[in-house]
Amino acid sequence: MDLGLAGRTAIICAASKGLGRACAFALAHEGVNLVITARGAEALHATAAEIRAATGVQVSVAAGDITTEGGREAALALCPSPDILINNAGGPPPGDFRDFSEADWQAALNANMLTPIALIRAVIDPMIARRFGRIVNITSASVKSPIPSIALSNGARAGLTGFIGGLARQVAQHNVTINNLLPGPFLTDRLRANSAKSAAMAGRSVDEEIALRAQTSPARRVGDPAEFGAACAFLCAANAGFIVGQNLLLDGGAFNASFG
Ligand code: NAP
Repeated sequence: MDLGLAGRTAIICAASKGLGRACAFALAHEGVNLVITARGAEALHATAAEIRAATGVQVSVAAGDITTEGGREAALALCPSPDILINNAGGPPPGDFRDFSEADWQAALNANMLTPIALIRAVIDPMIARRFGRIVNITSASVKSPIPSIALSNGARAGLTGFIGGLARQVAQHNVTINNLLPGPFLTDRLRANSAKSAAMAGRSVDEEIALRAQTSPARRVGDPAEFGAACAFLCAANAGFIVGQNLLLDGGAFNASFG
């Protein structure tokens, strides 16, 4: 299916690895020219080179922390008026909420709520003026089904989700869509890192731990990041303008409900 995106431009945040990287590849395969960001310059340049070699699109890199003003400015300087914005950043650390300080909460809110809002604010008016914009926020399955051990994420991402619910309906009339993608477990570095602790406690390898976790899913596996990228590209498609303010769960059916 041709998504009608060739020649469009996108900023994809936190995209040297994992889900952001998969979104970058999927959009590049549709002919979208990219700005990708991450803190670590080496992996970011390597990903950019791979995408260029695989697809031939233009890929610029903005190395920096997207949760800082400087990191956001670096990305926007390379592409002040993107057609597509994919918001993403690392998730906050797990833990008991009693142990989190005010600074921990501020950091989580900044990374997973205020940063995407700041980037949306920077790019949305030109999108409205051009009558084309696609914004996708990578959030988490925990928005729909809170995970007690990641209280910081539950709280911060729910704040973003509420804000998006309102804004998406204000801008849809201009062919600017905003939707959220909610990943369940996908095989990325983060999943491996998060599985390492429980694996060590149980005396299992990380691979064994992930395989055990997969057995609890109706799909009996964890997600492939490429599947996540494909869903992201679809939400950005030229003819996806009627998909507005949705929270699309990609979790292999783990969330148990008759209706989404
Ligand atoms: P990942 O494999 O660890 O990749 C994270 C990517 O983001 C890397 O490229 C990393 O590069 C970059 N990054 C992290 N913090 C950044 C920052 N402050 N500024 C710029 N770049 C940053 O993680 P992932 O699994 O793709 O997860 C992506 C998001 O989805 C996270 O918010 C995570 O909580 C959420 N999520 C993931 C899963 C899953 O199973 N994978 C499930 C639910 C939710 P640098 O470290 O070099 O900056």
